[in-house]
Amino acid sequence: MISQTAINHLKEKLGEKNVLHEKEDLLVLGYDSTPGVHHLPEIVVYPTTTEQVVEAMAIARREGLPIVPRGSGTGLSGGSVPVKGGMVLCLTRMNHILEIDEANLTATVEPGVITLDLFNAVAEKGLFYPPDPGSQKVSTLGGNVAENAGGLRGLKYGVTRDYVMALKGVLPDLSVISTGGKSVKDVAGYGFKDILCGSEGTLGILTEVTVKLIPPPRDKRTILAYFSDMRTAGEAVSRIIAAKIIPSTMEIMDRATINCVEDYVKIGLPRDMAALLLIEVDGHPAPVAEEAEGVLKILEAVKAAEVHVARDAQHAASLAAARRTALSALARVSPTTLLEDATVPRSRLAETFAEIERLTGKYRLQVGTFGHAGDGNLHPTVLCDERNHDEMERAHAFYNELYEKVLAWGGTVSGEHGIGLAKKAYLARQIGEGGVKVMKRIKQSFDPEGILNPGKIFDEGDPCTKPNVEEGFRVSR
Ligand SMILES: Cc1cc2nc3c(=O)[nH]c(=O)nc-3n(C[C@H](O)[C@H](O)[C@H](O)COP(=O)(O)OP(=O)(O)OC[C@H]3O[C@@H](n4cnc5c(N)ncnc54)[C@H](O)[C@@H]3O)c2cc1C
Repeated sequence: MISQTAINHLKEKLGEKNVLHEKEDLLVLGYDSTPGVHHLPEIVVYPTTTEQVVEAMAIARREGLPIVPRGSGTGLSGGSVPVKGGMVLCLTRMNHILEIDEANLTATVEPGVITLDLFNAVAEKGLFYPPDPGSQKVSTLGGNVAENAGGLRGLKYGVTRDYVMALKGVLPDLSVISTGGKSVKDVAGYGFKDILCGSEGTLGILTEVTVKLIPPPRDKRTILAYFSDMRTAGEAVSRIIAAKIIPSTMEIMDRATINCVEDYVKIGLPRDMAALLLIEVDGHPAPVAEEAEGVLKILEAVKAAEVHVARDAQHAASLAAARRTALSALARVSPTTLLEDATVPRSRLAETFAEIERLTGKYRLQVGTFGHAGDGNLHPTVLCDERNHDEMERAHAFYNELYEKVLAWGGTVSGEHGIGLAKKAYLARQIGEGGVKVMKRIKQSFDPEGILNPGKIFDEGDPCTKPNVEEGFRVSR
């Protein structure tokens, strides 16, 4: 329990409005966007400088409180849920774009800058920051780096880590570290910033991020293809990649998702189709025209039911916007949406869709699947009600069996959402007991007392316990 002296001290150092400790304030900060996981913090602080981050962490340490960094709370693996209580350190008020360096093609930002705000700010200067998670209107750069977020353009442009050039942050021992810089090449010592990317707030608190910018593509074509069965859609994806065409975006939605999105945005998507592929090719005009032609030929060869080319940039943007609503659209249907992040080598896509279909029938569930098909990254989403115990059991069994296959095919239990709480039970299955032990040693070297975001990625106890399916998705109090 945090002492009144510590609360007063925090208010003195951070300002009264940047310290919350009333229950009604704390309630909303015990969640992120992951269903079924919630825990009240004891206190929430909003530092506005790196020095304040150090001050707040020092007070938390003295009080023996765990510290949980938080961005906008759009995480889908429970990463910013304070499962052990303690202090939530929310970085959203450190939200300044500090520099856009046009000579070095970099931008330096505070961690609370919203992803889309950075995209728009650099676009005004004729530059391009590609990582675009579906949550880009809300998510923060700090959260993106901590989760190594992907996005709709990941297929061609890569994920957040591919753009991080330098990081500043505070380690659990209160030391302020800087790693990386604006030099394009840097192999001095271990890849420190690469360890911090995707560390899910368990190794350090990021207070400044420098990212690489690139020139924007000069041309783009957007193609929408509908399929009367999922397998053909999967085959189209595999064939496009095998033809050595790398679209910037190749997104998929199944029938259930198409219908939910249509109910939500009403743009005339055909409700009877089994699958939709949204494909964008971009770059210099000549190769773009050639690649679009290649994609259209493949869609014809696999016998896509309908193919449409976006009329203009506005039409293309509205199609991409519709895809970005997929999760919100599905979430309107049922009280609980369990979303997974199964990722397979692209050649296995068609089989994965078939397996999802088989398991949906076997476990009598309502499932909507969408995702970054070009990355082999699918989000099979069970639409259910967590008050229905039997349905939840079946949902967990569905994912359990699906992951057996995904791992057997050389896939991963998380393509982009991280392990957090939701995937802890699966990590050892994928990387083995030895892998978990090495990760624990890395954690111990940064955070020997285990005060930073405890309970995430792995448990403090035996790292090699058998996965517990129930625990893999929910934390009960
Ligand atoms: C509708 C929707 C669509 C989404 N689409 C995508 C997608 O396409 N691709 C994708 O990858 N993800 C997606 N996500 C998941 C989520 O948006 C990303 O993981 C995002 O990066 C989280 O950012 P955030 O600011 O909300 O971080 P939070 O959820 O607040 O935190 C995420 C993790 O980062 C840590 N953290 C946050 N800030 C810091 C910091 N400054 N220093 C250290 N650690 C920190 C937290 O402790 C936590 O472990 C989506 C989520 C939603 C709700």
